Amino acid sequence: MNRYWTLSARPLPAWPGPDTFELREAPIPEPGPGQALTRTIYVSLDPYQWGYKRRGVEPPGAPCHARTVAQVVESRMEGFEAGDLVFNTNGWAEYGLMGEGVQRPAYMIPRKLDPTLGRISQAVGVLGMLGLTAYAGMILMADPRPGETVVVSAASGGVGQIAGQLARLRGARVVGIAGREEKCRFVVEELGFDAGVSHLSPTLPQDLRAAVAGGVDVYFENVGGAVFDAVLPLFNRGARMTICGLIAHYGDEAGVDARAALMRRGEAIFRKRGVSVRDLFVGDFVAEHEHAFLRDMSAWVASGDVRYREDIREGLEVVPAAFIEMLQGGNFGKMLVRASPDPTL
Ligand code: NDP
Repeated sequence: MNRYWTLSARPLPAWPGPDTFELREAPIPEPGPGQALTRTIYVSLDPYQWGYKRRGVEPPGAPCHARTVAQVVESRMEGFEAGDLVFNTNGWAEYGLMGEGVQRPAYMIPRKLDPTLGRISQAVGVLGMLGLTAYAGMILMADPRPGETVVVSAASGGVGQIAGQLARLRGARVVGIAGREEKCRFVVEELGFDAGVSHLSPTLPQDLRAAVAGGVDVYFENVGGAVFDAVLPLFNRGARMTICGLIAHYGDEAGVDARAALMRRGEAIFRKRGVSVRDLFVGDFVAEHEHAFLRDMSAWVASGDVRYREDIREGLEVVPAAFIEMLQGGNFGKMLVRASPDPTL
């Protein structure tokens, strides 16, 4: 049998709780022509998955969506054979099909993994969509220059830790904003950021002002809310802001446009100081930039120029708890669940 997690009921609460999901069983699917059956090894847990659910993207009763690292069990799909390690989208499930007719976001194209590039779990992280998100938002969009001051929020998380290190590789001064003290220390001591500031501190605006000293030239926004409000007055003339995500708002009421509200709050300062704001959607960069990204990022990871922390939990049964924890900042590094043994370890 195939075990998988699905949404238990609608309407959904603002933020998920233990009752939001239920574990079901169904026969393991048979691959049709042009399809392969794969067994999930790693399930990637990402904040956007909550947005998917709230927007009703997943059909009722279907396994919750997720990017996964998996191994081919049986293949009727050209170019794939049993034993191959792949990136695909099995979701919160032990088994899934890939190939013809299998629904997935257009830019999440199943591919074979090359285990010599890095750990296979990194294919849903630093060597996959998260790495490309950081690369696109920092290098291709914000383009920090030596000596500039860059601020990254959710700085110890999957995207944030990579984005900050890329800015540092460009010679910028990097300040990370994170939650717990150990996360703020980690970005400085392990990742080489110049400073780490906690958004849990009641004096966040003052702490951030002191940490950035001469103001902010680039802001990589993952959060919104009070964190954005602390950065806003510190923007320098000609600063650039990449809106990657607004996780503080993923539980906002339906119809509330968090981005529009943020732009309204920033409007006067953006205009007066010529701050340019750009929205990032990683899917826009896959076709043109994935190849160069993988080449560059795998070299940086191999050389140690980019370090990458994962938070791996064990067993499909812990997926909802790990997901809820991640949304509340309980993860320390990129959140993953190992659903079956990793044959490369
Ligand atoms: P993370 O690993 O960063 O996990 C989420 C983190 O967000 C938590 O650990 C927590 O860290 C922080 N957080 C949660 N709530 C708040 C809050 N209210 N205020 C401040 N911080 C909060 O997740 P990802 O790296 O996967 O995602 C980071 C961002 O990137 C998200 O906004 C996501 O939607 C976005 N994203 C965007 C993509 C795109 O194409 N634009 C693609 C992929 C991701 P802490 O303990 O430090 O508070």
